[in-house]
Amino acid sequence: MKIHEHQAKQILREFNIPVPKGQECFAIDEAVNAAEDIGGKIWVVKAQIHAGGRGKGGGVKVANSISEVKEFASQILGMQLITHQTSADGQKVRRLLVEEGVEIEKEYYLGLVVDRASQKVCVMASSEGGMEIEKVAEETPEKIHKVLVNPEGGLSHEDSLMLAENIGIPRLALESAANVLQQLYKCYWETDATLVEINPLVLTKDDKIIALDAKMNFDDNALSRQSMVNSMRDFSEEDEAEIEASKHDLSYISLEGNIGCMVNGAGLAMATMDTIKLFGAEPANFLDVGGGATAEKVTEAFKLMLQNPRLKAILVNIFGGIMQCDVIAEGVVTAARQVELDVPLVVRMKGTNEEVGKQILANSGLPIISANNMSDAAQKVVDAIKGAA
Ligand code: ADP
Ligand code: MG
Repeated sequence: MKIHEHQAKQILREFNIPVPKGQECFAIDEAVNAAEDIGGKIWVVKAQIHAGGRGKGGGVKVANSISEVKEFASQILGMQLITHQTSADGQKVRRLLVEEGVEIEKEYYLGLVVDRASQKVCVMASSEGGMEIEKVAEETPEKIHKVLVNPEGGLSHEDSLMLAENIGIPRLALESAANVLQQLYKCYWETDATLVEINPLVLTKDDKIIALDAKMNFDDNALSRQSMVNSMRDFSEEDEAEIEASKHDLSYISLEGNIGCMVNGAGLAMATMDTIKLFGAEPANFLDVGGGATAEKVTEAFKLMLQNPRLKAILVNIFGGIMQCDVIAEGVVTAARQVELDVPLVVRMKGTNEEVGKQILANSGLPIISANNMSDAAQKVVDAIKGAA
């Protein structure tokens, strides 16, 4: 789960990590009031969307007067903000963060993620703040310093100091930077975060260390014990189809292609998407109906896929293990009738009661294209969209 910058900063405050004074706003008047409350002479008006790179897209603006705050708030609120992390259509801005303008001496980068290979938490720091870290990793990887932290021990003061020194934080601010690193690790750990990114962490003109931007992602499986995080969920930022899917206990992720996939098992679903790509097309979604899919679940899955205006064909790929092919075939036929399916449907089934299942599909009178193996299925569905184009 993702949250907004202003929410991440609220969490950081709880862990005594310095952040600028700020207030979230949903209207222009609120933004003006917020700026007046905050005081000072410089403010920053920031679009709150679940994506980074807002600055470059025009979603972060420095205001030198209250009237500029008003002007920028009216520009940014409601805009369709396009960044390298949004889709090509961008994301509508529904809320703002108005915060005090900080006088920046230098920008740094901090990030925490799980390192699966070592089964540790990877704490990263770089002198190249404000840039996309992917770019730094590609062009100047020596500028990213890492410590792999064993969760049993946590991040030591020693390692924090070393990281701070390595990225060139001046002596005066070393202790506070190390302290921020240790608190950040604590925050990451205690909130069940999967990612924390402070880009930039800044050194101010008066030698203070402040988190100027904050991004946090959380482990969905831990939300039941993270009530504060859970209460921060903003459904308006999430994909409608994915929200609908979660209500029916379906694992669904919207993608950019035009071939809908319905598969049982996450591994098989990944392999199915790879095979579609191998045959030169793109999947419209990832969809795992799980081990115990009923006819109702299959119907919901079809409805979800059909909501996608880009959809040109559907590929159903089922391995009948615990789930029997005839049950799935019944589900597919019922669903196809109920939703009045109007795109080509290719079905590949393998396993328990395969022959009965195929017979059900063949006898349904529906124009279902049957396939014998994965490459046959992929070829047929790719041919089908070519025929439809
Ligand atoms: P994004 O990463 O989405 O572009 P940031 O919050 O990192 O958004 O803001 C982009 C840039 O704007 C920062 O790198 C920083 O230079 C500047 N900035 C952001 N917040 C403030 C602030 N409160 N005071 C001064 N400058 C800021
Ligand atoms: Mg940033």
